[in-house]
Amino acid sequence: MNNTLAFAQERDYNDTLSVYRDRFHIPKDSKGRDVIYMCGNSLGLMPKNTSAHISQVLDAWQNLAVEGHFSGTNPWITYHESLAVSMSQIVGARPNEIVIMNTLTVNIHLLMVSFYKPDHKRNKILFDYNPFPSDRYAIESQIKFHGLDPAEAMIELMPEPGANLVSQDTIDETIEMYGDQIALILIGGINYYSGQLYDLKRITKAGHKKGCIVGFDLAHAAGNVTLNLHDDGPDFAAWCTYKYLNCGPGNLSGVFIHERHHTNIELPRFAGWYGNDLKTRFMMGPKFDPALSADGWQVSNQPVFGMAAIRASLDLFDEVGIPALRRKSEMLTSYLEYLILNIAGHQLRIITPSEGQWRGCQLSLQMVQPDKSLFTYLMDHGVILDWREPDVIRVAPTPFYNTFEDVWHFHRILKDGLDLL
Ligand SMILES: *Cc1c(COP(=O)(O)O)cnc(C)c1O
Repeated sequence: MNNTLAFAQERDYNDTLSVYRDRFHIPKDSKGRDVIYMCGNSLGLMPKNTSAHISQVLDAWQNLAVEGHFSGTNPWITYHESLAVSMSQIVGARPNEIVIMNTLTVNIHLLMVSFYKPDHKRNKILFDYNPFPSDRYAIESQIKFHGLDPAEAMIELMPEPGANLVSQDTIDETIEMYGDQIALILIGGINYYSGQLYDLKRITKAGHKKGCIVGFDLAHAAGNVTLNLHDDGPDFAAWCTYKYLNCGPGNLSGVFIHERHHTNIELPRFAGWYGNDLKTRFMMGPKFDPALSADGWQVSNQPVFGMAAIRASLDLFDEVGIPALRRKSEMLTSYLEYLILNIAGHQLRIITPSEGQWRGCQLSLQMVQPDKSLFTYLMDHGVILDWREPDVIRVAPTPFYNTFEDVWHFHRILKDGLDLL
């Protein structure tokens, strides 16, 4: 690697995925140039085929009205099934273990209804250090809902003093120490702030050995890193589709429920008619007859416009596949890291793990002087990224639409900004 523009251009020239950039709408700056979009970890860009998929639903509604449920090119009643097939490839699951429904935090609540079952011996929830606030609020409110004291039942993983990351050894030791009192381990697969990817398989194994239920929030992992949910064996997982999955703002969330739970109809759940087996759903009987798959957790009938945007984006994932995306992503992020380390003095440091294996696209740059001036400088110079309180700039080059040249220009602008500090 070297820090010349020619090197970046050569990498793009040899990149077999470079053609995919043109399949997305890239926002423009005030001078009409493509922005340097490094924010796919917050909201993925819009695929160009999204409009056509949504128009198809509009047309079906216009021309078929209620019959659109059962006829037309993609009948609404089974629309979510093809999403589950594509999504299962992305997260390494079986299609019957996946359902697309609701939004992420709502699903975390519904999953805790089924999988957080505190009793007098086990009532604690173990969660990751500095989680996304919504996850913390959900955990705390579920504990209160069971009449328990959050101060007593919440265990937050903690890094070694002075460190930003929680080592896998610390996780193992914490599970070993408190495992007998832990009802549920609920960890963000990739931490939104540090960009650290946890070892899902090892956490699952350690948790199960102690008799805990294990679930993951994969908001920052789905579509970003290789996942093997079925084989790694967690009990459940959920993720949003608008970050690396490019399915549009506030769109529906993906849910994984391991096959081993599908026939356990004794699990508590907040039921609704769409969780009823399709074979008997429209008999409108008084008795809930759950589908024996992840579909059994559905509550309401599905918002088809949202699913159309998901279908559009998953078509692209079907075409390319996670292995190719991940290969490029590791190169792109290593290149970003190399360029930043070349220019960064002591004004900032990268807190994300340096091993490609333990991170996804994102690098988190922690400012030593936690003011937003560098961030503002970058935004003013055509770079879109985000700031996370109190002191972190998150940069996420994504393999679908970012180029090596994007990364090079980002580093050039970053260098100018650092020189001004
Ligand atoms: C983005 C994100 C959320 C957002 O939740 P919504 O319910 O979709 O608003 C929740 N948790 C994590 C870890 C996230 O990264």
